[in-house]
Amino acid sequence: FDQLSGQIWMNGEFVEWDDAKVHVLTHGLHYGSAVFEGQRAYGGVVFEQTAHHERLHKSAEILDMTMPYSVEELNTACEEVIKRNGFVDAYVRPIAWRGSEMMGVSAQANRINVAIAAWEWPSYFAPEERMKGIRMDIAKYRRPDPRTAPSHAKAAGLYMICTLSKHAAEAKGYADALMYDWEGYVAEATGANVFFIEDGVIHTPTADRFLDGITRQTVIKLAKARGIEVVERRILPHEMAQFSECFITGTAAEVTPVSEIGPFSFTPGQISQNLIADYDVAIRPKAAQAAA
Ligand code: PMP
Repeated sequence: FDQLSGQIWMNGEFVEWDDAKVHVLTHGLHYGSAVFEGQRAYGGVVFEQTAHHERLHKSAEILDMTMPYSVEELNTACEEVIKRNGFVDAYVRPIAWRGSEMMGVSAQANRINVAIAAWEWPSYFAPEERMKGIRMDIAKYRRPDPRTAPSHAKAAGLYMICTLSKHAAEAKGYADALMYDWEGYVAEATGANVFFIEDGVIHTPTADRFLDGITRQTVIKLAKARGIEVVERRILPHEMAQFSECFITGTAAEVTPVSEIGPFSFTPGQISQNLIADYDVAIRPKAAQAAA
């Protein structure tokens, strides 16, 4: 991790990368009591920064954690992290977690800590792989029923099955894995939402049981602006046989075409290409666009 260096914002102060430490008895580490965000800065400006920090607040609220910093304070802290480290394009990771004051399932008195780190993370998937579409496995684990876990929170604990699914996929040579929901409908990738295209119409799973990505919402708006019909509905796995194009969306993944999901294959086409182009314009700060 040589490339990871610089200063990290931690509970209101800047600390050097190697000094941004937590205690081994951190509640967040033992019991998964942490919520986080993944944001990207383009041209020095974080795309949809307020939406991300509002979601962080929402995730914290769902996990019964009182965020010690307002959305505005987080926006300012984030901007400072980018500026201090001299980043232009960067990935930004805010995280809030229960501290180490008390051990045990109950940790009412534990401090809620907040940190914001950033680093240069150009492309989630190798660029050449991205253009021809990534290959995805189908995960063994399913997204939890909202009655089983707080499915709408971007909570650290929910990522345990994502890491397991992604590792299993990578071991078989795939780039990622598609997860079904607990009822067996298509849900999402391990860190991104999924879209399909059939006869010029976009189909995507209804985001009422997993994270409704900010990239997902952006891409739906961009597609509609192009006059493309977007249908949000339950999608059964066998329906994937009839879709011609597929792509995933996420802050890290951006818009990435998919060529294979298990036995189903897709050919990245014009709609995917157009939305990749539209997204690339949408994420760039307006001043940079004017100068370009
Ligand atoms: N689903 C999961 C499980 C994710 O981790 C992410 C990435 N945050 C997404 C969807 C996409 O969300 P966003 O577009 O807001 O990054």
